[in-house]
Amino acid sequence: MIELKGQAVSLHIQNEILHTLQEWKIKGIALPQLTVILVGEDPASEVYVGHKVKMCEKLGFQSKVLRLNENTQAHELKSVIQTLNENVDIDGILVQLPLPKHLNEREILETISPLKDVDCLTQTNIGAMVVGGSVIQPCTPSGIIEIFKFYQISLQGKKVAVIGRSLIVGTPLVHLLSQQNATVTLYHSKSENLFDEIKQFDIVCVAVGRSEYFKPTDFKKDCILIDVGIHRSADHQLTGDIKKFQSDDAEFELQNSWVKAKTPVPGGVGPTTIAMLMKNTISAAKKRRNI
Ligand code: NAP
Repeated sequence: MIELKGQAVSLHIQNEILHTLQEWKIKGIALPQLTVILVGEDPASEVYVGHKVKMCEKLGFQSKVLRLNENTQAHELKSVIQTLNENVDIDGILVQLPLPKHLNEREILETISPLKDVDCLTQTNIGAMVVGGSVIQPCTPSGIIEIFKFYQISLQGKKVAVIGRSLIVGTPLVHLLSQQNATVTLYHSKSENLFDEIKQFDIVCVAVGRSEYFKPTDFKKDCILIDVGIHRSADHQLTGDIKKFQSDDAEFELQNSWVKAKTPVPGGVGPTTIAMLMKNTISAAKKRRNI
């Protein structure tokens, strides 16, 4: 099985970004600025925000994390976002999800100016992505498309399944795959006969958010699998939506050789997601500042 390593894809995107920023420096253009809003103290969100800040530092972006109290009210959070919308120095605004339960995520996300919505979560930017040709694209799905491009996996005419229909992953991924001329089928928790159905696809993208719910032999022999899931087990191991077999497991040989290629967890989809966030911030800056 070939491992589709996201780190390699991420480094490729980072090099493109560094090249662009080098040109900006020569021309005296201010470097991109990203602000992340973190409400509450969710440990997983802290880790994700930490990764984003580190990547900003690595690439030379200016970044700021605004930490707000768990009990922050909707009008207070919206007011913070409005202030950032109006700040001409800020190119990208990201509200780290999930928000505490008392806040309506859709209502909050719609407060972000589409020009600074680098996560592509506003209705305006989701709509533009569906129409095609938008400069800001949802980070995880567009990162998956970059994995296919980097590993020269042609999508044209291929039967591709997407399992999971969230607004962050599955639903936008269907549109981006279709724009690459794949023939796409979307499955979700109400889909009937899922395990029979998925055996017919050359490529399957799995984003169900259930740790090790599938195993490689559930899919067609020699297919290509993208595992979006990421879960931290009680013993702090990271697992995906597809079970990873250890070398001392009786099924290891069978499972490991069943598929042609697969993204590992960790080190698959995750690194490309952050790289695409950085790319979106540059694209947003270019558009808003007319660079
Ligand atoms: P989500 O919002 O919980 O959505 C899960 C989707 O899977 C839903 O559409 C649900 O169907 C479907 N589903 C659940 N159980 C199913 C089943 N048994 N059979 C078929 N479909 C089923 O999750 P998400 O935000 O898309 O995230 C999915 C996973 O990806 C999570 O593990 C998340 O942590 C990970 N993730 C990783 C990255 C990254 O950068 N690596 C980024 C985002 C997310 P219904 O719509 O019918 O409920």
